[in-house]
Amino acid sequence: MTDKTAFLYHGDYLDYNFGPSHPLKPKRYKDTFELLQKLGVFNEEVKHYKPDYASEEDLMLVHSQEYVQRVKRMCEKGTGHLDYGDTPARKGIYEASCAKVGGSILGANLIMSGDVNHAFNVGGGLHHATRNSAAGFCVFNDVAIAARHLQKRHGLKRIAIVDVDGHHGDGTQWTFYKEPILTISLHRYGGGLFGRFYPGTGDIDEVGEGAGKGYSVNVPLPMGTFDEAYLEAFSEIVPPLIEKYRPEILLNQFGVDTHYQDPLVGLSLTTKSYVEVSSTLHNLAHEFSGGRYLVFGGGGYEPANVSRCWAVMFMTVAGVTPKNEEMYRALFDKDVKTRDPRIFEKVRKTIKDVKKTIFPLHGS
Ligand SMILES: [Zn+2]
Ligand SMILES: [Zn+2]
Repeated sequence: MTDKTAFLYHGDYLDYNFGPSHPLKPKRYKDTFELLQKLGVFNEEVKHYKPDYASEEDLMLVHSQEYVQRVKRMCEKGTGHLDYGDTPARKGIYEASCAKVGGSILGANLIMSGDVNHAFNVGGGLHHATRNSAAGFCVFNDVAIAARHLQKRHGLKRIAIVDVDGHHGDGTQWTFYKEPILTISLHRYGGGLFGRFYPGTGDIDEVGEGAGKGYSVNVPLPMGTFDEAYLEAFSEIVPPLIEKYRPEILLNQFGVDTHYQDPLVGLSLTTKSYVEVSSTLHNLAHEFSGGRYLVFGGGGYEPANVSRCWAVMFMTVAGVTPKNEEMYRALFDKDVKTRDPRIFEKVRKTIKDVKKTIFPLHGS
């Protein structure tokens, strides 16, 4: 079934550009938009919306005034770094960041007003940014800002944020660590050739504090985790928690750097997982959250794959039947990976440990 779905994209997302040698290629936003157009996805129900820039007041729902002003100043000059070296300050980054945050806020507003059921901000998902710092290519945390906006401007109490990027959703987790806002992150974790995998947090024992205890859920996965193992972890942990929590809205950071060809992460997913994850969350949103489902982009560093993976996810969420059948079939990965049973064993142990740690805190 087709539901009213918004695709959020602003031309200024292309200015989120850290330079030619940086792994984040902003062209992927435009590529995704154009691919969806070619596929014939847009119609009366499924529409593109262009957001306004977020205001400083919006940014300060999560970030300190000092940090917002520092980003603005440094980007005007266009030199130096906004964090410890991954995220350079360049001209246009501040404005592009405001456009991106504006996209996530518009998505939230369109859903809350009932104009659409679902929305996807292709330029959103900047989950590493914290109150006082950029981190890991993320300047302002639009996921956390959208959630705060939903709390403060729409009066929501129960918001679930599921983060399926290849990296831990640390900035989002720390923002809500002491509040009963459900954050679930599945990500690669642990040692690798170059030491601890970025950002180094997201172990099972980070469960939240005070009123937030039990609402921070982490599923750390070993390098090489493939579709079947990933989907077992996802389906054993995420739906039961959503069912128990009954969020008023479901937020979903949908980084696709989990893909098997991604150069930065080392997980081994294919489009099979993206269909399964997005259709499961979509159905949960209809069952428990009045259909309110807000999706954000995120990581993804093999440009040819990113637009393809997001197109598959977006069409799953919107329930669109593609006009161009042949082109649609070409979006999917062939079945590619060898399935190392030792990885499956590790993931199964993780599933057990997460359930043992988290489920009792929710009375089950
Ligand atoms: Zn729907
Ligand atoms: Zn990532």
